[in-house]
Amino acid sequence: MRKYIIMGVQGCGKGTQAARLKEAYDLVHISVGHIFRWNIQAHTKLAARIKRIMAEGQLVPDEIVEEIMRRRLDEHDWNYGFILDGFPRNRPQAEFFLETYDIDAVILIDVPDKVVLQRILARRLCEKCGLDYNLMFHRPAKDGTCDVCGGKLITRSDDNQEAVASRLQDYHEKTAPIIDLFKKKELVVAVDGTKKPDQIQADIRKQLKLL
Ligand code: AMP
Repeated sequence: MRKYIIMGVQGCGKGTQAARLKEAYDLVHISVGHIFRWNIQAHTKLAARIKRIMAEGQLVPDEIVEEIMRRRLDEHDWNYGFILDGFPRNRPQAEFFLETYDIDAVILIDVPDKVVLQRILARRLCEKCGLDYNLMFHRPAKDGTCDVCGGKLITRSDDNQEAVASRLQDYHEKTAPIIDLFKKKELVVAVDGTKKPDQIQADIRKQLKLL
């Protein structure tokens, strides 16, 4: 059983690296942002409570996040482990999580703010299947169209300059301190996120001693 958290500033490549680990080691990839976006697309009751907060790049209140995570983790649908992406994002969430679960490692992807800003503004998402694209590194074969399902590629409503600035500030004020907490527990493995995705994945596997 492998239980990991993947952390790093928005746009550092967490989603890409988590997806590769999931594929290779049969892990369940749990992304809170993805669960929230699914709710917004499906116009659920929850969507009404989180839509504006997300569009502004603010953090969703802890009680909502904790409820969603409790329900998701209670599904126990992993045989080989899980990788959490986008959670925990502050100290109360970290404490909530550690009350019930332990983890094997926290993967930290290091990328400077100015690099992520350029990347985030180039980010696109398939509105149908949710696949991520980036106009800098992973362009679709046909402009504006998903290679896999033919869906339309859209920009996330929170991938604009103001919302990104707000998310970066939140990361440095609220999320970075919990990395120190995990460092004290000697759980953190840090990789240089400015390298190519294949190299980053290789660095992660090496540090986690995965075959
Ligand atoms: P992400 O896909 O991880 O960039 O998350 C997108 C947005 O979802 C964030 O900007 C927040 O508004 C919300 N969100 C995701 N995860 C959390 C979390 N752990 N705590 C609070 N808000 C979150």
